[in-house]
Amino acid sequence: MPEISDAPMEVDTETFAFQAEIAQLMSLIINTFYSNKEIFLRELISNSSDALDKIRYEALTDPSKLESGKELMVKIIPNKDEKTLTLIDTGIGMTKADLVNNLGTIARSGTKAFMEALQAGADISMIGQFGVGFYSAYLVADRVTVSSKHNDDDQYLWESSAGGSFTVRPDPGEPLGRGTKIILHMKEDQIEFLEERRIKDVVKKHSQFIGYPIKLIVERERDKEISDDEAEEEEKDKPEEEAKDTPEVEDVGEDDDEDKKDKAKKRKKTIKENIKLYVIYMTEPIDEYCVQQLKEYDGKKLVSVCKEGLELPEDEEEKKKFEAEKEKFEPLCKIMKDMLEKKVEKVTVSNRLVQSPCCIVTSQYGWSANMERIMKAQALRDTSTMGYMAAKKHLEINPEHPIMESLRIKAEADKNDRSVKDLVTLLYETALLSSGFSLEDPGLHANRIHRMVKLGLGIEDDGEDGSGDTGAAAEMPTLEGADDASRMEEVD
Ligand code: ADP
Repeated sequence: MPEISDAPMEVDTETFAFQAEIAQLMSLIINTFYSNKEIFLRELISNSSDALDKIRYEALTDPSKLESGKELMVKIIPNKDEKTLTLIDTGIGMTKADLVNNLGTIARSGTKAFMEALQAGADISMIGQFGVGFYSAYLVADRVTVSSKHNDDDQYLWESSAGGSFTVRPDPGEPLGRGTKIILHMKEDQIEFLEERRIKDVVKKHSQFIGYPIKLIVERERDKEISDDEAEEEEKDKPEEEAKDTPEVEDVGEDDDEDKKDKAKKRKKTIKENIKLYVIYMTEPIDEYCVQQLKEYDGKKLVSVCKEGLELPEDEEEKKKFEAEKEKFEPLCKIMKDMLEKKVEKVTVSNRLVQSPCCIVTSQYGWSANMERIMKAQALRDTSTMGYMAAKKHLEINPEHPIMESLRIKAEADKNDRSVKDLVTLLYETALLSSGFSLEDPGLHANRIHRMVKLGLGIEDDGEDGSGDTGAAAEMPTLEGADDASRMEEVD
């Protein structure tokens, strides 16, 4: 542990240095100009929800785990006098070691990946997908304290004003029973997040799929915060009209879209319950959301076959053969990447394909085809994210497919051969379709196909595609060498 000193202020306070990449990420978060800061709340609520899931599942096999507190919920408490926003959950909590490891000394691969993604133009709001969402607290707060109580340990207090270090000490504060309390000491210009209306809007916008009650404690006219029970008591004693305009505890997680939320919750449960080797078909749109949150279960990583990094078991001989194929197809991959330019992030040799010549997979942190489809269908989609995520496509080619072998020979003979470029474009567009993506310009693709059909039928190419939409025909790129019928064999 990179412990640097015992802080002088208190005997039990230990000071730790943030792991270098985490420190770098924190200064990026603090110093980058970024206006969509509201996402910090989604990230913290999502962490709470994960912590609640964890205790709920532990309690399935050992109900005594809930003796430290049965109610599973998230509470949000704004305090304008103190300029703090507090989030409390009754989740699994963190031991002292968890606080030290999870919040500062052990960086995950996502830390670096996220910084690289930011440099490539990604948006800070994507932080959660990289597993470092907690640090988004520093978008709005200059000091953060985390009190946490896990069933297996005493209550500890983590604190940091960034600047490379954090402290951990036994928490002298109010006992939590079980769970985590995060206090955000808001930056001067971020106190808008202490407004009831703003909090409610942000929660409704970003946290609609959370399966636990999210309670907002609102300040009363006489500046007193009250809890659930007290609220009820007071309500009873009050004249009616006075009671009406002073709601104290509100469920902000509730939405009109109650159905969707319920569905996500049930579905996530089904996935978890069935994962131990039943087979589950993830065919529902909601599954995309669920598996993004459920990256790992019972020590097993969930791997999407539509994404990069799928590793299939191979013996030594297969490995050797694959390595040789990779080397052989390396030049073709490079030529294809140059031709497709920004349409794909990279072109690689694949061992996941049997019958198709090529396919599109998404990078680990990009959207799957299904997710891209779902996101495109969202009414209020964020176009900046779309651009970045949609760009994260990899074209994988099947070295055993005759199309690829012929293309390789042709391209290596003359890499400037125009027909190679046309064929590569056609293969790419077809791979997009068969991998579940949609085409940006289906008309152009249709025209290319019509040319191929003409070629197959031996019809002379007159520049018209015969489909009736003459407007597009003029802009259509020519498929050079289309008069040479022998070329047809290569794509047949
Ligand atoms: P992620 O949640 O994606 O793993 P974060 O940076 O947001 O990444 O959080 C790091 C880790 O800190 C979490 O994996 C979890 O172990 C722990 N953690 C964060 N918030 C809480 C919380 N409210 N309750 C319990 N553990 C938490």
